[in-house]
Amino acid sequence: MTRPLVAGNWKMNGSRADAQALIAAIRADMQGLDAVDVAVCPSFVLLPVAAQALASSTIALGAQNVCDEDEGAYTGEVSGAMLRECGCRYVIVGHSERRSLYGESDELVARRFMAAKRHGLVPILCVGETLEQRDRGETETVVERQLAAVASAAGSDAFEAAVIAYEPVWAIGTGKTATPEQAQQVHAFIRDYVSRRGGEGVRILYGGSMKPANAADLLAMKDIDGGLIGGASLDADSFLAICRAAAQGA
Ligand code: PEP
Repeated sequence: MTRPLVAGNWKMNGSRADAQALIAAIRADMQGLDAVDVAVCPSFVLLPVAAQALASSTIALGAQNVCDEDEGAYTGEVSGAMLRECGCRYVIVGHSERRSLYGESDELVARRFMAAKRHGLVPILCVGETLEQRDRGETETVVERQLAAVASAAGSDAFEAAVIAYEPVWAIGTGKTATPEQAQQVHAFIRDYVSRRGGEGVRILYGGSMKPANAADLLAMKDIDGGLIGGASLDADSFLAICRAAAQGA
């Protein structure tokens, strides 16, 4: 049985005080979650205060992106070494907001993925289709293209020790969620793809308007190993309820 992972993507939200308060509220109610890995991914500038607030807890820290290069003249970027120094274990790469709002290509995402691995960070690689692509029946083609960019750049065991997040773009921040069956179908496709490329044990998270009301049904599916949570991760009770649903499904 794969150990579930529930990671909160805080996006560009919160002050230092908000980060401290949210982490304190999560830490205060972690009982019963021994079987689940829990992580929070604040914005870059909140990483140090979050690391402090997480000290000696089992909750891991993650970032929301990483530079594909190691150091030098890359204004606005943050390197894997810097993230490690801040105490990060995970880093999200290829989030659809990065791909669509900031033009990150499959190839750039693949390079960021490799930089994460080079620095000993666990990449959480986001893949997923838009509504138009789903309506045209292209879901698997799009997801395969996004995975293939990583596979061709990172080689035969590209996905070893990585995490994949299936995030249908039409479900992110919209309140629309993939049905458990829709999600399972794509997760099984991803499982098959990555298993043939060093990723037998990878955790495949679902992301897209996951909340306490729908988490248990999604997390009960065979190939859904946890969640990448946006909006609901900003509320400690909602985030913890999702973590508990993952614990029950484990
Ligand atoms: C996300 O941004 O990764 C996400 C899943 O957001 P939300 O849960 O708000 O849909």
